[in-house]
Amino acid sequence: ARTTVKPAIFLPHLIASLQQVDQTYIMVKPDGVQRGLVGEIISRFEKKGFKLTGLKLFQCSKELAEGAGACQKENLHRRAHNGRGAKLYFARVNLEKDSNVDSIEHYKDLKQKSFFPKLIDYITSGPVVCMAWEGVGVVASARKLIGATDPLQAEPGTIRGDLAVQTGRNVVHGSDSPENGKREIALWFKEGELCEWTPVQAPWLRE
Ligand code: ADP
Repeated sequence: ARTTVKPAIFLPHLIASLQQVDQTYIMVKPDGVQRGLVGEIISRFEKKGFKLTGLKLFQCSKELAEGAGACQKENLHRRAHNGRGAKLYFARVNLEKDSNVDSIEHYKDLKQKSFFPKLIDYITSGPVVCMAWEGVGVVASARKLIGATDPLQAEPGTIRGDLAVQTGRNVVHGSDSPENGKREIALWFKEGELCEWTPVQAPWLRE
């Protein structure tokens, strides 16, 4: 006799596949850091209920951005003389490219755009805050929380709609697809910098 397979057996799998957990890379750009908006921006994703799995303040240097010293370690001791002939030793400069951070790589799809050089200058002009966030639907939802690329077109209530006025200073980045979310997290974070954990509020966020 043929056994009938109960649809209920497949239901949890179906629900699980519809609720795939994604990762997105969110970055507070240098203007957001300079304007003291880091806490405000992190807070919006926290309050929404997404899970933070990676967080760091990071200066993407021009050297790294332009690929100089890529995948190599270079320790430079800089020496100079002051006016009175004394030797001055500058701090050791570590041009250490052991993560794959490269803002040109990050924005490689925009390389042909006229604003690309300005964009690289902007993104390397000061520290950024790199974040990895996780959750069901986090990529699309984060894009909505961030708002349109041009802050003047961004809806009030969104980060850009509330906190910025110009495309060239739009305070935050968010991955545009789950694939790019994974790619960008791997680009900006080293292995071991991401944290697997279960927030205590998890059962209060999803049934
Ligand atoms: P988004 O960041 O909303 O995904 P894009 O991927 O189109 O937008 O562009 C990446 C970033 O490049 C923007 O966030 C912005 O910082 C910069 N950018 C885009 N268009 C312009 C422009 N016309 N002039 C200056 N900067 C721009």
